[in-house]
Amino acid sequence: MTTKLLIPFAKNAEGKLVTAREVERGLDCNCTCISCGEPLLARHGKEKVWHFSHRSTGGVGGNDGCGEGSIHRAAKEALSQSIGKQFALPDFLRPPGTAKVRAKILRVVPEHYIEEAGRTVDCWIRLDVRCGHNWRVSKPLGIRDLAVEIAVSHKKDAAYRNDMRNADVPSIEIQISLDYIWKRIAKDKNLPVESLLRSIVLNMTTNREWLYLRE
Ligand SMILES: [Zn+2]
Repeated sequence: MTTKLLIPFAKNAEGKLVTAREVERGLDCNCTCISCGEPLLARHGKEKVWHFSHRSTGGVGGNDGCGEGSIHRAAKEALSQSIGKQFALPDFLRPPGTAKVRAKILRVVPEHYIEEAGRTVDCWIRLDVRCGHNWRVSKPLGIRDLAVEIAVSHKKDAAYRNDMRNADVPSIEIQISLDYIWKRIAKDKNLPVESLLRSIVLNMTTNREWLYLRE
């Protein structure tokens, strides 16, 4: 079964993120596509995992890319709403004698244009990054502003890394696995979408890597 083109989340009439398992079937779900804003049908079928599809296509397929686009946009929103929360950085060489590196999000700017790099990044975040055995006696580490890219299927290429290196902008990529999302949706009927996305974007450590880190 391919889930690549199916839409996993939508916004309901109250603007809350929901899965198709939480709402009435068909147009009665009163949901819209997070990616393109079109009305959606909730598909409660027997063969495929319950999902959403666009009304304009009569429930067949969808606008290309709205499945991945929805995840991308919802993840970006989750990150934007996480000021004050802890943020997992990809591994990097810890300063000697330190046990932990911890970061807290101070500020998030979605869709930020970085002039020096000539690129718009998914999110531009300001962090309080500290290291030490103990959070209370920790010292700041030299990273403050960070470009964050969210990749659902398309990963950033070497040209992107080069631009970030030339502009000297530390940047990371968070990979979001479609399979993982569908697995979680299949498992949990009342999956709280927001908290799932927050855990993927903020807390997972295995899904992120540095695109550029200052030496
Ligand atoms: Zn759409």
